[in-house]
Amino acid sequence: MSSQVDCLFCKIVAGEVPASVVRESERTLAFRDVSPQAPTHVLVVPKEHYQDAPALAAGDPLAMAEVISAGAAVAEQDGIEAFRLVFNTGAEAGQSVFHAHLHVLGGRALSWPPG
Ligand code: C5P
Repeated sequence: MSSQVDCLFCKIVAGEVPASVVRESERTLAFRDVSPQAPTHVLVVPKEHYQDAPALAAGDPLAMAEVISAGAAVAEQDGIEAFRLVFNTGAEAGQSVFHAHLHVLGGRALSWPPG
């Protein structure tokens, strides 16, 4: 499995950095964000390293589909019917960890447009 030295989310996938895991599948891991922005704030990551969502979609479309399905399943696990799925892509859009990850946000009213 491809992973990258010094990638925080690769270390979480490898079990080298602790995380509050809520769901796992063959290709994905879901864990609670350490700085939650909503009552439910979970990150779903592919276990393999891709720097962002477009790279994941191009490199492993099945894993991308599994990430999105896992996001919906996490919302169901947490009992929320309305939720937001977000892939920040690029630093200017707010991406700070360059291992593709889906934010699952919900459990409160969410405004639009985002800041
Ligand atoms: O989209 P962005 O790259 O900014 O998201 C990274 C997310 O990773 C942040 O929401 C941050 O709180 C989260 N994080 C985490 N555990 C860490 C470091 C960052 O959940 N140890």
